Amino acid sequence: MPAGAREILSALHGADYEAYVVGGCVRDSLLGRTPHDWDICTNAGPEAVERCLRGHEMIETGIRHGTVTVLIGGEPYEVTTYRVDGEYSDHRRPDRVAFVSDLREDLARRDFTVNAMAYNETDGLRDFFGGRDDLARGLIRCVGEADTRFEEDALRVLRALRFAATYGFAIEEETAAAIHRKAPLLGYVAQERLYAELSRLLLGPGAGEILLRYGDVMARILPELGPCLESAAYARSARAVSACTGEDLSLRLALLLGTPGAAEGIDPTVSARSALERLRVDGRTRDAVLGLLALRDVEIPPERSALCRWLNRVGEEPLRRLIALRRAECAADGVSQEECEALEQALDAVLRSGACYRLRDLSVGGRELRALGVPEGERIGRVLQQLLDAVMAGELPNERAALLARATELLKNGSAENQTGEEQK
Ligand code: ATP
Ligand code: MG
Repeated sequence: MPAGAREILSALHGADYEAYVVGGCVRDSLLGRTPHDWDICTNAGPEAVERCLRGHEMIETGIRHGTVTVLIGGEPYEVTTYRVDGEYSDHRRPDRVAFVSDLREDLARRDFTVNAMAYNETDGLRDFFGGRDDLARGLIRCVGEADTRFEEDALRVLRALRFAATYGFAIEEETAAAIHRKAPLLGYVAQERLYAELSRLLLGPGAGEILLRYGDVMARILPELGPCLESAAYARSARAVSACTGEDLSLRLALLLGTPGAAEGIDPTVSARSALERLRVDGRTRDAVLGLLALRDVEIPPERSALCRWLNRVGEEPLRRLIALRRAECAADGVSQEECEALEQALDAVLRSGACYRLRDLSVGGRELRALGVPEGERIGRVLQQLLDAVMAGELPNERAALLARATELLKNGSAENQTGEEQK
């Protein structure tokens, strides 16, 4: 337990209040993972919490729900008064919350048994719902009646899948059945929230399995997948998602959205764009996904000049991503990744050799061309591009003298070539 959490617990205990670390941090600690935040629950009301922790910087934003955020050592700790949730009229947020005096009641409002445990050093683990057993068995199970819990807050449907994917857990039978029944309620959840969970789900090592078993839920978030859910192509995408390595979400999104047969008859980049925009995916990830889908079927021979041309057209990162995507697909198909490896090695070699594939890599620039008498503007760009093309094709070394000689040549034939060039355009 970090020192900040310890300090908060002992301040509250010193004033005769109950206090525990609770939820995700207890779960992750028991799993031997490092929690990314430590939440605290207590029977002290918010004003009492503020009194006990006077002297520390505090943020009151959640105070109506009983949450005081305390900053210790630069780390925020959420300290929340035991509470139960009132009615949920929108399947998302309780209309009001009520403070309670009993830890058990606070734990009972939490979503899954593995998230409903509390701990402090005096009392040890407080586990009223079998969370520890479920953790040991690798099971996600609702606290209480699953249908009710998903009706209260539909986001829990997706949280269940996210936890299962992240930890490689199974979902307990009753909970799983309720997930299928209540998936339509995801329509009440904001797209940003859906995407936040979806992205964590897709990055989980158990994602493929979850995508296969809960395709109906996936299609609530990505209706584009509806037409292909039963197909071998979807199963392949699911396997490929699981085969992805690294933390690059764009690969997994591209695999899913690029499933053949998705969005019947619509160009996959068009339907993917609308899905990504609907989910409010950040621009960087969106462009990476669309870039992958656009490149998906191109043939890239592992040769220097071809690689230079692709580097010039799309850049290094998208090419690396494309290779990673193809590797994942090979893994999904159980076929050799030799071709991908060869391509990757060729790419490494080209880059290591300091290959010239951008205008700025050329050993001459606009200034030298102007000195040769090339007129300003578009014409300079065109000559530079012709020089670059020749260097990438291996017809010309990237050396100043050779480049200037070729530029002079181009200029000599310039007017004639230029005219026909313009006409062809
Ligand atoms: P992580 O931080 O890894 O996403 P977490 O379980 O800590 O996982 P948080 O969103 O930080 O998730 O929530 C902290 C705790 O609050 C959870 O462990 C759970 O006990 C409770 N909780 C969070 N969201 C819900 C919800 N939608 N319904 C019921 N309880 C929830
Ligand atoms: Mg958390």
